[in-house]
Amino acid sequence: MPELPEVETVRLQLKHKTLTKTIDRVEVFHQKTVAHDRTISKKLSGKTIEDIDRVGKLMIFSFQDEDNLFLLAHLKMTGQFFFVDKKGRVVGGGHSMTAADTKLPTSHTRAAFYFTDGTTLYFNDMRLFGYTKLANKKEVTEARKGYGPEPIDPEFNIPWFVERVRRRNTSIKAALLDQSFVAGLGNIYVDEALWRAKVKPMRTASTLTKKEASEIAIHAGAVMNESITVGGTTFQHFVDTGGNNGNFTDYLKVFGKQGTACSRCGGIIKKVRCAGRGTHYCPKCQK
Ligand SMILES: [Zn+2]
Repeated sequence: MPELPEVETVRLQLKHKTLTKTIDRVEVFHQKTVAHDRTISKKLSGKTIEDIDRVGKLMIFSFQDEDNLFLLAHLKMTGQFFFVDKKGRVVGGGHSMTAADTKLPTSHTRAAFYFTDGTTLYFNDMRLFGYTKLANKKEVTEARKGYGPEPIDPEFNIPWFVERVRRRNTSIKAALLDQSFVAGLGNIYVDEALWRAKVKPMRTASTLTKKEASEIAIHAGAVMNESITVGGTTFQHFVDTGGNNGNFTDYLKVFGKQGTACSRCGGIIKKVRCAGRGTHYCPKCQK
């Protein structure tokens, strides 16, 4: 499943490829992907992409001269964008690209956005949990409400985080995965941030010291920013819109490292279940 740094990478590259492009028409290959909205092509025809924003892992497309029409895109488990140039070449997306994927549409293509300049943005989704659907301003406001502030936001308020997290009686892992509290941290990044902050994932959040809580916030932001810099993490082959594999896997210290020695203290990394997720930590140097 793509995590926030991958989604952010896709967003930045889609912005680069599609901003100021005008949609000619939309072809829907699977109605579930567009929430069974038969009007999507008609409504988007002639609309020019003004911006692509993001809240959590939800991408929000806005259009020039339109303040009540948005396109929401969520990759969920297996969603992928493929941007195809005028010559039919895939020049970007956010996906695991194989030779079979390079001829679009494929059997997994759910929607195609044809631009007036001859380029196309395809949305593929094997599992059909993802979507690209229209929303009005009210729905966008509602969607935004479900997400807390993001540790990668330069204005993320660390004292606020320290105070709030220490009121929580769940494990710190569960607190960090709660998107309505802080948005954007997925399983990999929570484990990595907690390793960096030297805190065990199963620690009850209310037992954290102020210093520990503050370290967690700082490392959560840093680990995600570093991942965005290299184009996302991926255990499979996630390809960003420029056709590059995300390679943050090379930087992981604890995720997926069970049974190997901790690079900080030599302890053996363990994998347990915590907050319902496979959780990795060093029993020796994480308190
Ligand atoms: Zn260690």
